[in-house]
Amino acid sequence: MKPIPESSPFRKPVYLDYAATTPVAPEVADAMMGCLTLSGNFANPASRSHVYGWQAEEAVEEARGQVAALIHADPREIVWTSGATEANNLALKGAAARYREAHTEGGHIVVSAIEHKAVLDPAQWLEQQGFQVTRLQPDQYGRVHGSALRDALRDDTFLVSIMHVNNELGTVNDIAGLGAICRAHACLFHVDAAQSAGKLGLDVQQQSVDLLSLSAHKMYGPKGIGALYVRRDPAVKIAAQIHGGGHERGYRSGTLATHQCVGMGKAADLAREQLSEEPVRIATLRDQLWQGIADLPGISLNGHPEARACGHLNVAFAGCDGEMLLLSLRDLAVSTGSACNSASIAPSYVLKAIGLADDLAHASVRFSLGRYTTADEIAFAAEHIRQVVKQLQKQ
Ligand SMILES: *Cc1c(COP(=O)(O)O)cnc(C)c1O
Repeated sequence: MKPIPESSPFRKPVYLDYAATTPVAPEVADAMMGCLTLSGNFANPASRSHVYGWQAEEAVEEARGQVAALIHADPREIVWTSGATEANNLALKGAAARYREAHTEGGHIVVSAIEHKAVLDPAQWLEQQGFQVTRLQPDQYGRVHGSALRDALRDDTFLVSIMHVNNELGTVNDIAGLGAICRAHACLFHVDAAQSAGKLGLDVQQQSVDLLSLSAHKMYGPKGIGALYVRRDPAVKIAAQIHGGGHERGYRSGTLATHQCVGMGKAADLAREQLSEEPVRIATLRDQLWQGIADLPGISLNGHPEARACGHLNVAFAGCDGEMLLLSLRDLAVSTGSACNSASIAPSYVLKAIGLADDLAHASVRFSLGRYTTADEIAFAAEHIRQVVKQLQKQ
């Protein structure tokens, strides 16, 4: 353990990195704990010959229903995966493989240029396999416009993949509008909803979504589980990417992790119950943080001022050195760029895509709030940021 920072009244840095991952809700941990030991619901959900297996299967199916309810889907449309990365891979590669079965050439995919790497990298891989990929540029706030999508669509476009909420900016896309365009063009519409589940309403019918990726650990569930929604009516055909045993109706083989499924189900249930209050409370705290620092010289907001998910506050501190900034903000646990890229020091491709110069991208910090963020923590964070920025700008 590193020494505890001196100026924080809390025992540890204030956690403001909920967009990277969330802690597991205690209710979720309790539910998971009941699915591990001999006295619990530990069996293989695919075991058909005894009551242990039946009970595990029942728990997994209840959880499937809870996840389906969060997005207004049928439980049979939910495929368990190891997370949103796998769900995105299954959606893109699975749809592409099906296209290739029916067509010897062509095949065009549209994504946004600021998708998570878990969409961009599979898209790039498919490009190497002979598919064509268009990467839509977002506007200065990180939004993808319907007009840009319409212009990009071709006769051989079979898949469009656009995220609901951008993980770095929090900017919200008009999924229903984009979905309607895809529906009219008769191409599949995939949505990476890892950052929006539990924060914004998701309705796969109303939003004309065909494939949708979820991740438990972004909504107070455990890491290592997610789901892909696959529309049944009209039926969306995707090819399995993991073979062996034919679990999940052949879409994704592998023994289901009962505790993980139950954890994600419980997390989805809590998210649905709290959907009308929690985002409002978190957005209020987020706005308080912004109001507490917005008058600092050189400060500006990255992302859309209004169309933004409740917990996100991405801020550029002009005139501050990015690395110094992160080092000095040691009483806060935050991200520069997105957590997935923090191993490299290249400026965030998302911030560059919305027009930030390299130095301003480097001097940007993502604060992200969540369920357990308190008003005291936000008051402390604002004061801490003020002190650090004034100190750095003096130099
Ligand atoms: C976190 C995240 C992912 C990856 O999800 P995992 O479950 O960690 O694989 C994908 N897309 C977005 C938008 C994310 O925020």
